[in-house]
Amino acid sequence: MKGKHVRSNCSDFAGGLEQLAAEIRDCRICVEAPERAPLPHDPRPVLQVSRTARLCICGQAPGTRVHRSGRPFTDPSGDRLRSWMGIGPDLFYDPDRLAIVPMGFCFPGLDAKGGDLPPRPECRKAWHDQLFAAMPQIELVLVIGQYAQAYHLGTRRRKSLTETVANWRDYWEEAPEPGKPRVLPLPHPSWRNNAWLKKNRWFETDLLPVLRNEIARLLGPGDGDRGGTCMDVQLAAGT
Ligand code: SF4
Repeated sequence: MKGKHVRSNCSDFAGGLEQLAAEIRDCRICVEAPERAPLPHDPRPVLQVSRTARLCICGQAPGTRVHRSGRPFTDPSGDRLRSWMGIGPDLFYDPDRLAIVPMGFCFPGLDAKGGDLPPRPECRKAWHDQLFAAMPQIELVLVIGQYAQAYHLGTRRRKSLTETVANWRDYWEEAPEPGKPRVLPLPHPSWRNNAWLKKNRWFETDLLPVLRNEIARLLGPGDGDRGGTCMDVQLAAGT
């Protein structure tokens, strides 16, 4: 082990979520102990977690804009995702209500054609199991992209990413495993999916209303001290 934030075995983690999040933010595995070519820049893990969020977004990995901002979904994909969800930035970036856990926490770099590389596999192996174990209150995970589908759906995935999303009702209606959150696969909100969205109108007519209803339930004022009417305001702002 070359550095104090490089673990050879993370399964014995016994600290709380706050300590775990702090360790992730200091993580240098992909520079100091990478499985393949090291990350070509300093790690900048981007995630949003808390002990109270009941909804979690699980996507791929930061792109260049998010790497620069250090905040998840600060790009046109984020704008579209918030529009799909019917919420504005204030609610989206409230960690007490919404967790954001991409499959790779750091920008993985670009391939020869200028596209984003896949999420670093080291991240999932080191952090995700213990991170989700430390957030047992999560009730729903919005799963975006093939790597998140592989992690959250496993063998329940269909043959293709599109087929998995097209069968969203099956995942929505099945009872989750005890202690596990419900999972809802979504297409990526990137402009690259404009043609797909045009072709698959059911996404807007069938899936989005269900998603927004569930979001109103999960992000709305809760039992105790949440109170207030910001959910109404932000729902209006995001639609
Ligand atoms: S991508 Fe994940 S494992 Fe790699 S340095 Fe960043 S936080 Fe650590």
